[in-house]
Amino acid sequence: MKATKAFVRYVSDPVLQWKWGNRGLSRHSRELARSQFLARPELEALQFRRLRRLLEHAYDRSPFYRRRFLAAGVVPGNIRSLEDLRRLPVLEKHDIQDHLESMVADGWPQEDLLLDHTGGSTGAPLAFYSSRERRCWGQAATRRHNGWAGWGIGDRVAYVWGAPRDLPARSWRSQLVVALSGPQIFLDTGHIDESRMVAFREALIRFRPEIIQAYARSLALFARFLRSRGLDQPRIQAIVTSAEVLDPADRALIEDVFGCEIFNRYGCREVGVIASECPAHTGLHTASEGLLIEVVRGDDPMPPGESGSILVTDLLNLAMPLIRYRIGDMGAWEEGPCRCGRGLPRLREVAGRVTDFLVGSDGRLVSGVFLATYVVARRPGLGQVQIRQEERGKVLYRIKAGSNFRERDDLEYLAAETRRYLGEGTLVDWEFAADLGPEPSGKYVFSRSEVSIDSLGGLARN
Ligand SMILES: [Zn+2]
Repeated sequence: MKATKAFVRYVSDPVLQWKWGNRGLSRHSRELARSQFLARPELEALQFRRLRRLLEHAYDRSPFYRRRFLAAGVVPGNIRSLEDLRRLPVLEKHDIQDHLESMVADGWPQEDLLLDHTGGSTGAPLAFYSSRERRCWGQAATRRHNGWAGWGIGDRVAYVWGAPRDLPARSWRSQLVVALSGPQIFLDTGHIDESRMVAFREALIRFRPEIIQAYARSLALFARFLRSRGLDQPRIQAIVTSAEVLDPADRALIEDVFGCEIFNRYGCREVGVIASECPAHTGLHTASEGLLIEVVRGDDPMPPGESGSILVTDLLNLAMPLIRYRIGDMGAWEEGPCRCGRGLPRLREVAGRVTDFLVGSDGRLVSGVFLATYVVARRPGLGQVQIRQEERGKVLYRIKAGSNFRERDDLEYLAAETRRYLGEGTLVDWEFAADLGPEPSGKYVFSRSEVSIDSLGGLARN
């Protein structure tokens, strides 16, 4: 092992984790390494123990859930199996927006309520809390999946990522954190154009990463660019994709261009990694030790192969329980056991989360996820928003305003921020909508552009 890798693995990473309060990380990692191979009945027994603890806790300490239990005529003792959970109602995003504070467990220590926000790529953004212990478990679950892809602590990583808050800031403190986290470089997908892709490719050749972690569609765009120019690439060991839907054509292209396998991952801000691909590449194993996943249509659970709405019960976040939470994505179960031997149930590729790139006035491309996260989500008054684009450099926002909407301020903000990311010449228009329903396919789509992405020469899609 190289000296830098050993240093990160045995010295700087443990120090950083300790500083961040992730005290249980190695214990969680050891448990998760074992529990992934539990047989289904043992796994379900573990889930049920955790579910009972969660329900009793929510009933005793969360005013919001106590009201819900009473309204449904249920007490925690009535839930005698995992299936019984269906006696409780589905938790919608607007429930969280309207009742955030009363969902939090009474008397939970203030210093252990970690506030976070979703990006709102599948509807309205929202705020939520989790505990330090839960966040630490999520980190262990992410690392377990990294391990399936052969990605170890201290490996050289190239990020093709669109989230500025996850990108290193310029202060010496954050630069130090980056240095201690291991060797890494970034392509910011919030602003991709040809010159940045050329520069990133040169950086990749110098840097020689072992791993690429990427927004699926952004990496596909980069791969398409390399292919169209006939540019070669250093070999990568593995690629981890997430945050955007990975369609089969994009997967084939990326694997071919970089000469390695993709390990796709599905997750969200609220609960972290939900499901992830193992080396068998036949669906995504759910992180079922901490999450109870349902796939439903109406009140009915869907059999394998049939898609429905994904509901998540977070078995470990006692600070703010999430019980039967509708994330806004569609998915379907995969049938039967996986040949890798892991007992964790599998989802097929998740069909929701389709976001398109928007084309700016100067031809730059900005992903919908980016605008959802860094423009719309920062103004809760904007409520639920969709973006439509019919021509380059012009966007239409469809707005279902939130309760604290301030028309003049919020619209000025929206126009200014849009021009900041899509170019000063961008025309910004809006209309108000009573309801922003799903697409005919049943997917909630944050952005939809009719403009073909051919404004960068060889980059036309398909
Ligand atoms: Zn597997």
